[in-house]
Order: sequence, then structure tokens, then C-alpha cells
Amino acid sequence: MGARDKGRYVEVALNIPVFREFTYSIPEELQGRLALGSQVTVWFHGRRTKGFVVRFLEHTDVPKERIRGILAFDPHLPPLPPRLLLFAKRLAETYACSWGAALEAALPGSLKRKNVRTVQGVDLVMTQDEALELSEELEEKREKQARILRHLLELCPPVPLRTLLQRCGVSKSPVDTLVRQGVLKMVRLPLEDEFLEQSKREVAPRHELSEAQERAVDKVLASVACGENRTFLLHGVTGSGKTEVYLRILEEVREKGRGAIILVPEISLTPQTCGRFLSRFPDVAVLHSSLTDATRARQWLRVARGDARIVVGARSALFAPVKDLGLIVVDEEHESSFKQQQVPRYHAREMAVLRGELENAVVVLGSATPSLESWQRAQDGFYELVELPKRVGGGRMPRVLVEDMRREKPYKGRPPVISKRLEILMSERLRVREQVLLFLNRRGYSPVLFCNLCGETLQCPNCEVSMTWHSARGRLVCHYCMREMRHPDVCPTCKASRPVTLGAGTERVEDWVRRRFPEAVVARMDSDTMARREMYEKVLGAFRERQIDILIGTQMIAKGLDFPDVTLVGVVAADVGLFQPDFRASERTFQLLAQVAGRAGRGEKEGLVLFQTMNPASPAIEKASRMDYRGFVEEERTHRRMLFYPPFSRLVRIIVESLDAQEGRKRIDALTGELRALQPSEDFDVLGPAVAPLARIRNRYRFHSLVKCRTQESFVEIRRRLAPFEAKKTRKLRFLIDVDPVSML
Ligand code: ADP
Ligand code: ZN
Repeated sequence: MGARDKGRYVEVALNIPVFREFTYSIPEELQGRLALGSQVTVWFHGRRTKGFVVRFLEHTDVPKERIRGILAFDPHLPPLPPRLLLFAKRLAETYACSWGAALEAALPGSLKRKNVRTVQGVDLVMTQDEALELSEELEEKREKQARILRHLLELCPPVPLRTLLQRCGVSKSPVDTLVRQGVLKMVRLPLEDEFLEQSKREVAPRHELSEAQERAVDKVLASVACGENRTFLLHGVTGSGKTEVYLRILEEVREKGRGAIILVPEISLTPQTCGRFLSRFPDVAVLHSSLTDATRARQWLRVARGDARIVVGARSALFAPVKDLGLIVVDEEHESSFKQQQVPRYHAREMAVLRGELENAVVVLGSATPSLESWQRAQDGFYELVELPKRVGGGRMPRVLVEDMRREKPYKGRPPVISKRLEILMSERLRVREQVLLFLNRRGYSPVLFCNLCGETLQCPNCEVSMTWHSARGRLVCHYCMREMRHPDVCPTCKASRPVTLGAGTERVEDWVRRRFPEAVVARMDSDTMARREMYEKVLGAFRERQIDILIGTQMIAKGLDFPDVTLVGVVAADVGLFQPDFRASERTFQLLAQVAGRAGRGEKEGLVLFQTMNPASPAIEKASRMDYRGFVEEERTHRRMLFYPPFSRLVRIIVESLDAQEGRKRIDALTGELRALQPSEDFDVLGPAVAPLARIRNRYRFHSLVKCRTQESFVEIRRRLAPFEAKKTRKLRFLIDVDPVSML
């Protein structure tokens, strides 16, 4: 329990980009009722704002007339525990945000509306045909409204408002307009929590541990037993049974009466995963963004009150107020989705290690392809390396073939989507009724629309990126601002020729497969087809029951899926992402390929994997094809050390986004110049300023600089200097300070 109030004043941390707390007095009626970590409502600059009590004061130097009283306090909300307050403070210091902003992340937003039983939805007033017709009419002048109608039809109305807005990338106002015009109506949709119900139906047998699993468990348990803080890096190949290792450690932690947090990447947080934990422990809470607000709030309160001691969740579950936290697991620790892209821009893996320290807990980072950061720390002895080198249950690692697509016979003058060899392998599998996964990390039909005559590609009017052709929707789509356009009849630049598609996305692969294997049952899984969570679960269920022969998908199918009858995995283009202007491009490609390959042959039958590539000699592809993790990291580490990239430095990236290009450039120049002038300059390198690889998004021009800090002192100093900048944003100009960035675009 937090200390009850011992003073007449409190300091409150507010979720604003200002790096201090504010003093308020405790009114008579709240005396004796507040605790450290209580959420309170206060006045701030003429607005009611929520914040957290972080300190009690007997006296204050703030003049009496300037002090206001606390307005309100919700007695039903348990206060955040003191160690969580401290954790948030340290996180805020690391990622250059305010304490209040970090604390806000600790509380699921839904708690504010915890009694709601329905969600806001949108439904059509007219028939579907009429709506389709109207969307055609609106397309030229009211593109956003047309887009909304089209997506509503795709999703089958009624649709939750939040889902619709996210998918269309629009604000609520065009929806409101359509409501006013009598085209749409707002409805209340009942909350459904299929997710938890489904999870509860999953069962996980308690396996006899393999020798390697046993050794791993014992090593970690030695630390659990003496209650020390220690971080382990569990490097286990795909299918080596890492989850069973987590479960056994959990048993022991629970035995000792302590709690645990299991972090899983959002994308792998399926009922299957949750079910493994739910079926083995009675007191698991699931924190997941796809839960309804009410359920999430209930789950959070169970944890805060100590009724649930184990939390399974995505990134933000790291803030769960678990009592006496004894264990934190970060599964698939290499995943970049553990980094939050908005304030607070924390990296959940790094912060798991910090929270472990503060709570005196054991931390286990697990992966088949650990991040270079974690690997280096294990090499340096900060983490203890534990390995599972083999698959469990006598399973073998799959065989990987590399297909050089440069040698493939062209089809209509261009390289084919699927090579002859992959085609043959697929038909063999289909004949013996085994399952096939086809992976391509690019959705849509084709990523580029290109003019043969003048060589121009079609760009988004709002962004400096090419638009992707989506044939099912019959529109070009910008994957950054969601703007949609029709296929132009003639090239907008030279007006002489009709642009053609270039390159392949998942839609095109599906098209090819359906034509070539009309008798096969085919499904595609990407964020276009899986807009509603239910569809995702349905397709996975059907695939598990072998009602689907060929599953095509983006990274949605690359990770965590455990289907024993998949014996062939085809990677349509192993090079996607390899040439991104990002120093981690190679690492990510390796990780993704190794993970995808790991989906093959997880049962008794041997698995086969085929990488199609134009760059067979690239280290990422070559090493992934031999499942040579160590070989890859050794080579990659050499590059990183030479160029002074992580894990050999810590990065701070500064991004300026401005509606006015000149203003943006001026600001980044000034800011970068200031950093360059800092001393001692040998402690850090400043790269830039430069135009960001994504040079314009939603009409904002983007510039960036990168600071590589060689010493902890310079890292602290640079963050301190930059921290106030985010607060200087205006409608036209934004500063983003990204500490430990995972995206360089
Ligand atoms: P990883 O996460 O390492 O890729 P999983 O934890 O998904 O692997 O385990 C792969 C499969 O092996 C799962 O179906 C799991 O139930 C099973 N499994 C785990 N441990 C054992 C074991 N000791 N013996 C047999 N099967 C096991
Ligand atoms: Zn765009």
C-alpha cells in the first residue's frame, strides 16, 4: 500500500510535455484519503486534467494564492504502487518525456469509462448498392467520405467506429458529415469478448521437459529461488519449446507467492498463446488492445487488487500493477513492436530489464533470433545466456533452399512471381495433402504503378511514397496516409500511356495461386483481409483443422504459429526490406526469414523452405538459409562496431515535421548545430541534418538528425538538452525526440 497522505499539499505529475510536477492543496473532504499513486483531477491552465499524486508536502514555497485544491479523486481506483511510480520516473528520464506522460501509459485509458457495456458503431442507412453508387459519386470531390463508404462495405456494417476510423486513416468529422446527410447512422454495438472465451477453450498439455529445457529451467530457477534480480537471454531455435520453459519458471514463481508479467508481441497474442497460460494458472489476467474497454478495465483492476497475479499482454502490459513482481518474460524479444512509436516512446524490452531491477525480479528475454543489443549484453556478461539448440520432441530443423530469381525464365518480360521449383514443390505437397505457407511481407497487388513511357511512378499527393495497387478494392492506396485513388487511364505525368503494375504483393500471389491450383483451398491473411480480429481467429482455426491447403500472408503468418502439418514454406521475395535505408535492415531480414522458416516441419514430417531472392549472396539471406544465427551476428556485429551503431552506441533521433519545408529545414539545422557545439564532442557523433527517407507524409516535410552516443554521460546530456523540444510543437511544426529508435525512416 502506498503511504497515506502526510501533508497538506501534494505534487501531481500531469501528462503534459513539461518536466516538472505541480503543487496542489488537499481539500478538507479528501484529507486522509489520498495515497501516493492516486489518480486525481486538477485544474491546469483553465482545464480539468487528470494526474497522479507523486509526493506529499507539509510545506511549500509556492505562494498561497497560486495554489489550487484538488478537484476530484476516484476512490474506486487503486493507487499505483510506489515502485511503479519510480519505474515510470526512470522510464521518463530515459525516453525524454514527462513523469506524468509515463504514468498515463500505466493506466489503461478505458478505466475512465469502465461501466460502458456497448461501443459506438456505424451503420448504413441506405442499401449496399446505393452506398456503392454514392461512393463512386463522392470520389472526386469528397475522397475521404468515399473511402469511408467503401471500407464500411468491405467490413460488413455495422462496424465499430474505432475500427473504421483506424482503417480509413481519417478523423471522425467526415463520418459526422455522412451522418448529417442521412447516409450513415451511429449505433450502439454490444461488447463482445470472444477473445477471452476462445482463449479459455485452449488447453496446453504439460510436457515432460527435454534435457535442454530442463537445464534452462534449472538455471533460471536458481535465481528465482534466492530472489535475486538477474536477466537471462533464452536463445532457443524455433520449435525448441520456449513457452514450456516460461511456464515451468512461472510455476515456481507462483509457488513462492510472487507475480509475473509475460510480454508477447501484439501480433502473436492469439487465443492460442493466451490459452497456454490460462489453462495452467487460475489467476491470469490478459491485457490486450483487442479486448473491449470494459474487459480490459476489469482485467486491470483484478491485477491492481491482487486477484490476478500473472499478466499476459502486449507492450503496455509491462506497466501492470502486479503485486510483488518476481518474473518478467519478454517473448520474441527481438521484435520491433516492443518499441512504442508515440510518447512515451519506450522500448518495452529495455524497460523490462529496468523494472526487473527495481522490483528485484528475474527477467527472461526469449527469442530464436535475439536482437544484437541483447546478444551483446550477454557476451559482456550483463545477461546470462541460456540456449535451447534443438527442436523438442525429436523434430528436426527444416531444410532451406535458396532460389536465385535472376536465373528464372521471365514471364511476359518480367521475373515470375513464383518460380518453377516452388510451383512443383507446392503441387507435390497438395497431392499428399500437406499444408503450405506462402510468405510475402507486402500487401496489396503490386507496390508500384509505373509508366513504361516516361518512367514515372504514381505517388501519393500527400506523401512522397508510391501508392500500392489494391486490385480487390480497385484502388491505389497510400500505406502512410490511407489516401485512395482510382487507377488512372493515362500516366498523370506524360499523359501518353496507361501505367502498369510493377512487383508483387500478397494479392497478386493469391491471384497466381488460385489460377494455378484451382482445386486448392486458399486463404490470404494480411491487414486487408483481417481487418476484424474475428476473421483472423477464424482463418487460423480453419488452417489448424486443415480446411485450408495454402495460406498466403504477410508477417501476420511469420511468427509464433505452430501448425504441425505445414511442410512447405515459400518465401516469395526474401529481399523485401533488405535495402531499406536503416542500419537494422539486414538484421530484420535475417530475423524475419529465420522466423518464417521456423514455421515449417514443426510436426513429425520434415519441413522444407524455399527463399526466392534476387540477392542470394546477401549475408542476411545466406545465413538465414543455413539457420546460422551466430554466423550472422558475428558478421553484423563487426559492421556495427565499425560504424558505431547499436549495440556499440545509444542513439537519439531527432525528427522535425513541418508543413512548411523551409521552416522545417531551418529548425533542424539550428537544433543539429546546437548539438554539434556540445562538449566533449568526442563522446558522441552527430549525423545530419538530412531529409528523412520518408521525406513527406500527410503533407508534412520531414527532416532528421541522428546522435550516436558513445558514453552514458553524453547520452544523458543529449536527452536532457532535447527533452523540452517536443513541447514546442505547433499545428505546423513538430519535434519528435526518439530515444533508442527502431525506425530510421
Ligand atoms: P518455440 O516458442 O520455441 O518456437 P513452442 O514453445 O511454441 O516453441 O513449442 C513448440 C511445440 O512443442 C508446442 O506445440 C509445444 O506444446 C511443444 N513442446 C514444448 N515442450 C515440449 C516437450 N518437452 N516435449 C514435446 N513437445 C513439447
Ligand atoms: Zn499518402
